[in-house]
Order: sequence, then C-alpha cells, then structure tokens
Amino acid sequence: DPTDTSILRVENMIKRFGGITAIDGASFEVERGTITGLIGPNGAGKSTTFNCITGVHEPDDGAVVFDGTEITGRDPHQVANQGLVRTFQIARELPEMTVLENMMLAPKDQLGESMWHSVMPIARQEVVEQERELRERAWETLEFFEIDHLAEEYAGNLSGGQRKLLELARALLTDPEMLLLDEPMAGVNPSLEKKLLSHIHELQDQGYTFLLVEHDMDVIMNHCEHVIVMHQGQVLAEGEPAAVKDNEEVIEAYLGG
Ligand code: ADP
Ligand code: MG
Repeated sequence: DPTDTSILRVENMIKRFGGITAIDGASFEVERGTITGLIGPNGAGKSTTFNCITGVHEPDDGAVVFDGTEITGRDPHQVANQGLVRTFQIARELPEMTVLENMMLAPKDQLGESMWHSVMPIARQEVVEQERELRERAWETLEFFEIDHLAEEYAGNLSGGQRKLLELARALLTDPEMLLLDEPMAGVNPSLEKKLLSHIHELQDQGYTFLLVEHDMDVIMNHCEHVIVMHQGQVLAEGEPAAVKDNEEVIEAYLGG
C-alpha cells in the first residue's frame, strides 16, 4: 500500500515466559523516517518487544509487519536481511579484536554466516573486491562517527560511549532501513551523548527510521517526534512527547511502578 506511511507494525503481540505475560496484546506502528521512542517503567515489556520484533524471541501470538512483509517468527539474521537491525552489545570475543576488525565482521555477524556465503562470489578476484569495498565502507562509517582514529584500538579498550558509536557503526554496515536501539545513551557521557544524538538526526535526514528505548526523559522529549508508552505489557498511551508527558495514566504508571 503506497499510502502506508508506517514502516513497522506490531499487531496484538503476546509473549509469555512461563506464568509471566511479558507482552499482553501490544499493538503499535512506527512511521517511516521518524525517531520514535518506546518508554515505560521497568518490566513494562520494552526489551521483550524488541526481542520479539527482531526474532530473538518468538511471540506466542500477534504479528510483526516490516515494510509490508510479515516477519513474525523469522530469525534475527533474516530480520536483518530484511533491513531491520538492533544494536547488540559487542559480543564477548569481540573486545579482543580491533575496532576495524569488529567492523569487518559486522555484516557476517548480523546477517549470518549462510547469508554471507550466499552473497560471496566464487571467483577469487571478486572476493578480494568485495573485501575491499567492505573495508572502504567500514572506514567511511568510522569517519562518519568520528571514531576512525580508534580503528586499530581493541574494542575492549573503548569507553562506554565509544562502544555505543561502534555498535551503531556496525549495525549500519548491514545496510538497514530501520534501527532499534535499546538504551543507546546508557553509560554515555554528556558530550558524547550530544554527538550520538546529532549522528542519529543526521541518519534520520538520510532516511533511516529509529525506534529507541531510552530512560532519559530529556532525550525522549527533545529528540523523538512520537512516543509509545508501555505498561504491564500493553501500550498505555502514545502521541507527541509533550502530550504523553502530561498524560495522567502515564504519570501514574511511572509513580506506581
Ligand atoms: P523492560 O525492558 O520494559 O524493562 P522486559 O521486556 O525486560 O521489560 O521484561 C518484561 C517482563 O518479562 C518482566 O517481568 C521480566 O521479568 C520478564 N522477562 C523478560 N525476559 C524474560 C525471560 N527471558 N525469561 C523470563 N522472564 C522474562
Ligand atoms: Mg529493558
């Protein structure tokens, strides 16, 4: 549907863990090209929602539609191939690799070994060419995030904020349309936070869509055009940040826990 301006739709999602209903019939949409915030008190179901969208968990019921395609229950590599990625903490072994090595591994990591091999041409010359292209894009992306001077540094030696930039840089190398960021500002110092936010806005200008879980209300209020509030596994409210902030049910949910 060409009039459909939403890029992501979550429909009546349910996810249970044993006796716990982590997501209890949540439905929402994310408009293409926006920075949308997903907020709610601890335990509201935000991370589980991210996990169900990106195939880390399979929802018990409901649907996820991305870019017009139902992706419910697909594995994370397939979801990434579709153009929807989330940032992950740098995996355990990666701190012992350099920033550039982390970048070179990113597409293989996120898109999956089989996908990587399936796009790997047989001819040796083409392998070399593809490697060269990836290296070039890796450098460009590091330059964009102003961490190219750290290319030869071990990822394990980066500050919390620099790691967040690297995570975002790695996610971008998979050629996504939309990025899900779970607490991107956690552990980031104020000056780097400002930088990270300005990069996110630049990427938005380039056409990327963002859905972010963030505890920092200033970030949500000043940088998101739309906010979705979850509480007890359901969508409690949504709308413009200012309206959501003054919503009494929302205030009560935060106070009541
Ligand atoms: P939020 O990210 O909003 O803080 P979560 O999605 O992490 O909330 O958690 C929602 C609920 O689901 C919580 O009650 C949490 O304890 C539970 N939960 C989340 N993941 C699991 C899991 N893997 N196993 C069991 N319970 C889980
Ligand atoms: Mg969480």
